[in-house]
Amino acid sequence: MVPRESSERVNVALRIGDASVPLEMDVPARPVKLRRMLPVIRQMSNSFISSGVEQLTAAGSEISCRAGCGACCRQIVPVSEAEAFDLRGLLDEMPEERRSAVAERFSEGMERLNSHGYFERLAEAASASDDRYDEAVREYFRFGIPCPFLEDESCSIHDSRPITCREYLVTSPPEYCASAEGEGVANVRHFFQVKEALISLSQDKTRPELPYIPMIAVMDWTDKHSDDSRELTGREWAREFFDSLARFSRPPGD
Ligand code: SF4
Repeated sequence: MVPRESSERVNVALRIGDASVPLEMDVPARPVKLRRMLPVIRQMSNSFISSGVEQLTAAGSEISCRAGCGACCRQIVPVSEAEAFDLRGLLDEMPEERRSAVAERFSEGMERLNSHGYFERLAEAASASDDRYDEAVREYFRFGIPCPFLEDESCSIHDSRPITCREYLVTSPPEYCASAEGEGVANVRHFFQVKEALISLSQDKTRPELPYIPMIAVMDWTDKHSDDSRELTGREWAREFFDSLARFSRPPGD
């Protein structure tokens, strides 16, 4: 029998404007890699998103994202390093037939992008200017490469999908999302930007690449990098995560 990992309860009070929102979470008591904190971070992201959506609904807006609409799953989809290793673990645990089908989609996408020198352009654009980076992101969309986990226009790894996918919600008509230009797309802006906080916390700053890994490059990237990231207790990770989250929060009314 595998012993249950010991955990401890951490209480946090988040400040939103003048309000204080209490949060309680069970985190690993022993030192772990950041990827072991993902279930807690996903749960937190889900509850931030739900409360944001409730407020939007109360204000008369409606989220137009629906199951079966995978338009946004052809975007570049930034993934944190911790999530990249987690997704790789998920892929490797799939039954062989399914694993090779998904792996094949990763390889085909990478081959296409590499044959057009896309990643070099993306890296150059990211270090040049916001405008050039935005254009490189639009160029990715124009390749029309679906996320390898997209099946029948639905996410096949819904519970483990990256924070980027959780936070991507729109209130505009779904057909607008099918254009690379994104004209008319009304994205929901989140108060707590968990994606940015996680990417920043997870990034190994000694690596001279982008701060994130594009979803399509997850398999290739995890082939080339081993997870030699640091280990902290859940309580220490929680402290660092909330420090990072504080840097990526929108002031009320912004
Ligand atoms: S992980 Fe799921 S939601 Fe995210 S891009 Fe891929 S298919 Fe879409």
